[in-house]
Formats: sequence, C-alpha cells, structure tokens
Amino acid sequence: MSDVYIPPSEHPRIVLIGAGFAGLYFAKKLRNKPFQVVLIDKNNFHQFQPLFYQVATSGLEPDAITFSVRKIFRNCTNVIFRMADVQRIDTEGQTLETDIGTIDYDYLVLATGATNNFYGMDDVEAHSMGFKSIQESLDIRSLVLQNLEKAANTSDLAKKERLTNIVIVGGGPAGVEMAGAFAEFHKFNFRGDYHDIDPGLFKVFLIEAGPSLLPAMSKKSSKSALNVLERLGVHVHLNTAVEGYDGQEVRLGDTRIASESLIWTAGIKAQYPFGLERAAVARGHRLTTDQFNKVQGYTNIYAIGDVAYMETQAWPDGHPQVAPAAIQHGEHLAKNLLIGDPARWKPFKYFDKGALATIGKKRAVMDVGKAHAKGFIGWFIWATVHLFSISGFKNRLRVGVNWINSYFSYDKRNRLIIRKYEKEGVK
Ligand SMILES: Cc1cc2nc3c(=O)[nH]c(=O)nc-3n(C[C@H](O)[C@H](O)[C@H](O)COP(=O)(O)OP(=O)(O)OC[C@H]3O[C@@H](n4cnc5c(N)ncnc54)[C@H](O)[C@@H]3O)c2cc1C
Repeated sequence: MSDVYIPPSEHPRIVLIGAGFAGLYFAKKLRNKPFQVVLIDKNNFHQFQPLFYQVATSGLEPDAITFSVRKIFRNCTNVIFRMADVQRIDTEGQTLETDIGTIDYDYLVLATGATNNFYGMDDVEAHSMGFKSIQESLDIRSLVLQNLEKAANTSDLAKKERLTNIVIVGGGPAGVEMAGAFAEFHKFNFRGDYHDIDPGLFKVFLIEAGPSLLPAMSKKSSKSALNVLERLGVHVHLNTAVEGYDGQEVRLGDTRIASESLIWTAGIKAQYPFGLERAAVARGHRLTTDQFNKVQGYTNIYAIGDVAYMETQAWPDGHPQVAPAAIQHGEHLAKNLLIGDPARWKPFKYFDKGALATIGKKRAVMDVGKAHAKGFIGWFIWATVHLFSISGFKNRLRVGVNWINSYFSYDKRNRLIIRKYEKEGVK
C-alpha cells in the first residue's frame, strides 16, 4: 500500500520515473486520458541537457533551460507529480521505495536516463567535474571562475597555470561544444575581465581517446570541428586516454597537464533503481526491452529513452542516446498504452533526424542522411532546432533574445559565482 498520498482515481495507475525528454513526452501524450500518471523525479524541473554547456560557460542562466514540471502539467488532473528519489523497486509487490515513502503501481515506466561513466577510475571520479545535470553545469561554471580568481591572486607561475588550464575529456558533441565556448570566452572576454592574468596562460585542452572528434558524425563534420577548434586555439589531443587525475595533474600516458579543472564528458551509463533482478542488462548498463519498450523479464515494466536498449534490424546496437530517440520512445509507448489490447500494439520504429553540434557561437556541423552543412548555415539550423525544442514560448523567446544579444556583443554576461563550489581534497 502507498504511504505517499496520491489522490484516488478510477483509472489504472502508471508510475513514471523521470521527467527528462522521454518521461515528459510520454506524460504529455497521456494528458487528460484514462490513466492516472504519477510522475516522479528527484528534481521539480525538466532539464534541457543540450544547452548545459551554455550554463557551464556563463552563456545562459540555469532557469532559461530548466522548466517547472508542475507548470507544464498545470490544470492537468490525471498527471500527479511527486518530487522523490526512487531507490528500489519491489516488482512482486508492485511498489516503489522512495525517500518520501512507498508508491504502488499498476504499470511502471522507467525514464531515468543516464549518468556519468568514469569506467572505474575512482580518482578521476573523485576529482573531476561530471556534466549530466544543471547542478553539475553550475558547479563547472563556479569552479572555473573561482580558479580564475585564485589565479589572479597568486604570483606562483606553476600554480597560475594549474588554475587557468581547463581540460575537457570526451570529443563528442558535449565536449566539442564546451571547448568551443571556453575558447571564445578566452578570445573575446578574458583580456578585459582578467587583465591581471597573462592571457597566454589560459588554455583549453580537449582530450579524445579515439582517432577523431564527433565519432558518431560524418568524417566531414569531424574534420570541420577539429579545424574550427584548432583555429580557436583549443589544444586537441586525439588517440589519447586519460589514465588518472589527482585534482592537480591529468595523466595521459607520458604526458601530464597541470589543471584543477577537469571536465568529464567522456561516457555515460544508464541509471535506474535497484530491484530489477530479472532484467537483461545490455551495453552501457541499459535495460534490454522488446520493440514495445517492455523490459525483458517483466510484464508491466517499460523503459524509454537513454535507459532503454532496444535492438532492431536497423539499429543492431540499440538507438542512439539522444533527445529525439527519447522523445519518440516516450510518445510511442503512450500511444500503445492508449490502444489497450497489447495484441494491437505497434512496434517502435526510430526516425533518425540526424546529428548537430555547434562549435563556438557562429558555427556548427550538421549531418542529416547524406546531407551535410557547416559554418553559419549549420549554426542557424542548430539554433532553430534547439529553440523550437525548448518547452514554452516565453522560454524560447528568452533564450532567443539572449543568443541574439551575445551573437552581436560576444559578451557572456552571466559570469557570476552564485553558489561557491568546493572541490573535495583541493584547497
Ligand atoms: C551535456 C549533454 C549534452 C547533450 N546534447 C545533446 C544534443 O545536443 N542533442 C541530443 O539529441 N541529445 C543530447 N544529449 C543527450 C540527451 O540529453 C539525452 O539523450 C536525453 O536527455 C535522454 O532523455 P531521458 O528522458 O532518457 O533522460 P534524462 O533527460 O536524463 O532524464 C532522466 C530523468 O530521470 C530523473 N531520475 C533519474 N533517476 C531517478 C530516480 N532514481 N528517482 C527520481 N528521478 C530520477 C532525473 O532527475 C531526470 O530528470 C546531451 C546530453 C548531455 C548530458
């Protein structure tokens, strides 16, 4: 029996964990439909992860890309939100254990996404900055700005270098976008704001274990990204793996980079509460599902978005862990549940919308099928796609105006340390 209060309902109860892209679009499709949807998330907001790098690099304030779940579902009485951290699933009793109590379900939908993967490197995990939440994005912003303040306040050159070197690990879109934004910050803002630090000391390093940047994109896009970043002054190290980090020095084979700012974008692993002992766990710790998003081993538990691994002929390694796949999973499962009889459910088919990555403020690369765009056209498409993906007209307007302003002024106005970050073990 639930001891968390949920209003009574005549409809079957779907408990949905996660208000990310998959969960949000799933719940939206079931608004005012004959199900009670109990939406649980540890935050009371939805996060627009593709623009985290702008928060981390002082381009946007966090509230521009986080949206109140209660506001999204206001006046929608069949969607009940509870802010809670789900810790365990009792699949026999059909109950969830959360930090606010227990909650019963008829159907359970897991939309819990993914978290940072440090591949077992405990020292790297302990000292580096993860990049999977708005909180972590703000921590990165604070840490970098705090380190620049410390650098201004010392005459010790070795210490100054350690404080001004930023090392980003992972050459996927998140790493490339972050590196481009920091490089532009250096080019356009650093000299003025930090006139008491030698500008030559501020260096951005991008480390990628594979042979190219943006490995999931075309060769053309990878090459363009590398060229643009190098022109912006980013030190790109390909075929280079991080071997260790003690909070002061990054170990890369024989090479060492002194840095107190290591940002980890190099890997993710799916996350979900304990208790799914019968589930088959696939690559990236994902839950294997059938083509109807049903988790293998269970009859009334479903997984959507980054946490789900669905192998099909067209996608033998599962779908990419990107927002469009999560949205499509969520919408498709909701439509199937509305059909009722599982014998009439339709198998999921992924529509690949292509891939985009922006590099600095005015350039991006884009692959859609065989088509490829770069430079300003790529950036314009990137900006349009992202603006239209943001929830709510007012939010779009706010982000749009901010971009137009910074596009012409090159100023990142949000260089504020609102919440001080204290890195463990480093004083
Ligand atoms: C920095 C970054 C940049 C990205 N850029 C792009 C991009 O440009 N384009 C693109 O398509 N994709 C991008 N992605 C990937 C994209 O954001 C993900 O694929 C997408 O968010 C997956 O959606 P999801 O709903 O599966 O999970 P998420 O959006 O991660 O949502 C999971 C939700 O579950 C909640 N949750 C998890 N565990 C629990 C629990 N135990 N109890 C309660 N709540 C819980 C979390 O709080 C979260 O709200 C990016 C990701 C990152 C991190």
